[in-house]
Amino acid sequence: MAVHEILKMGDARLLRLAQPVSSLALGSAKLHQLVADMFDTMQAVNGAGLAAPQIGVDWQLVIFGSGQVNPRYPDAPTVPVTVLINPVITPVGDEEEEGWEGCLSVPGLRGVVPRFKRIRYQGLAPDGSAIDRTVDGFHARVVQHECDHLIGKLYPMRVRDYSRFGFTEVLFPGLDAAEDD
Ligand code: ZN
Repeated sequence: MAVHEILKMGDARLLRLAQPVSSLALGSAKLHQLVADMFDTMQAVNGAGLAAPQIGVDWQLVIFGSGQVNPRYPDAPTVPVTVLINPVITPVGDEEEEGWEGCLSVPGLRGVVPRFKRIRYQGLAPDGSAIDRTVDGFHARVVQHECDHLIGKLYPMRVRDYSRFGFTEVLFPGLDAAEDD
């Protein structure tokens, strides 16, 4: 079990364009260790997803999903546990949907972010096998949020209406204080 420190907004490492994972790294012990550490880190803070740059690793790799209800997003549908490497996202249609987001790198805040309602995402699993899914709703939102970390984008950069961006404890006073983002 290795829980890593999660970098916070303001750290320049969150603003990089992440490097593709080379085919040599696929299936490697180093990659498997990174993925295990990322799941430990994400689960320690009940995250819905985590991108490698959030723990300072300059790789195009994200994890997301829980397969069970996330206490931070109790009303959200479950998303399959996924490791996605070198992802490519293609919007399916141009319909957008607004939804509240938080980020482990932006603790204590939430904001409404417009995202494509439906997307296709493609990439690789850690063993090099292909992932190709078309999804919508919360699943699509999580993937877009996580993959944004690979191009140096944090969700506050996507907020359009700053009247719906603020501190979680003020916006949602009923939320458990332990769930601070
Ligand atoms: Zn995030």
